[in-house]
Amino acid sequence: MMAKAKKTAKKLKSSKKSKARTKPAARKIAPKMTAAKSVSKTVFNLPQAAIPVAGTDLMFPIRRIYCIGRNYAAHAIEMGSDPTREPPFFFQKPADAAQYIAPKTIGVHPYPTLTKNYHYEVEMVAALKSGGKNIKARDALKHVYGYAVGIDMTRRDLQGQMKDQKKPWEIGKAFDKGAPIGPIFPVAKVGHPSKGAISLLVNGEVKQKADLSQMIWSVAEQIEKLSQAFELKAGDIILSGTPENVGAVKKGDTMIARIKGFPDLTLKIV
Ligand code: MN
Repeated sequence: MMAKAKKTAKKLKSSKKSKARTKPAARKIAPKMTAAKSVSKTVFNLPQAAIPVAGTDLMFPIRRIYCIGRNYAAHAIEMGSDPTREPPFFFQKPADAAQYIAPKTIGVHPYPTLTKNYHYEVEMVAALKSGGKNIKARDALKHVYGYAVGIDMTRRDLQGQMKDQKKPWEIGKAFDKGAPIGPIFPVAKVGHPSKGAISLLVNGEVKQKADLSQMIWSVAEQIEKLSQAFELKAGDIILSGTPENVGAVKKGDTMIARIKGFPDLTLKIV
């Protein structure tokens, strides 16, 4: 393998050389094919996933969505693990899985395909304005731009099937509109919330109810751990885990995700 790789590398090198030698001729034949002079244009444009910043006309562009698993002890227990021993683990959703829902509106959230057990997980979202590798918890919060209310929607049956088969969970977590989220409130407005009620209601009935202070790993510690595995960057958002009593919704249900100090995030499943 190594020898082959070396050979390929050599080949590439020599082809580069020969390209350089034949450059003028190549230009004559195909002047527009001779490579990337300015790589400023893409073959088509993609929308940038973004969430409004509360109280401004600015958008917060989303680079990646990270989620922490089992970050409240009682939820870890209900998912069948030991909260005292398990280190934090993370997964991702694609940036465009974010579904923005404005305050004082009822977001229309489509019941996704393939599932018969569609679960809510209310979570506080931390949005980063900068990042790095191997960030220390004590320095971590300076990278946070702001916070929002979000829901880590989950096709629980599909997640469970994949878990059972020791296959990746993407189909259970990383689907379209799988991350409803409200506007981002800058740290200047909300500080770094580390306590306060977090709850989720379905059709007016409280289903999840806990306190941010019950997180096993604080946002700062999550950033520390995450940055050991991934280089964090501006635009990354972190769903900081859900408390216990996750459960299912069906078409027609209305959910309210609520964190003290933030406007409600309300959505109807259609
Ligand atoms: Mn979650």
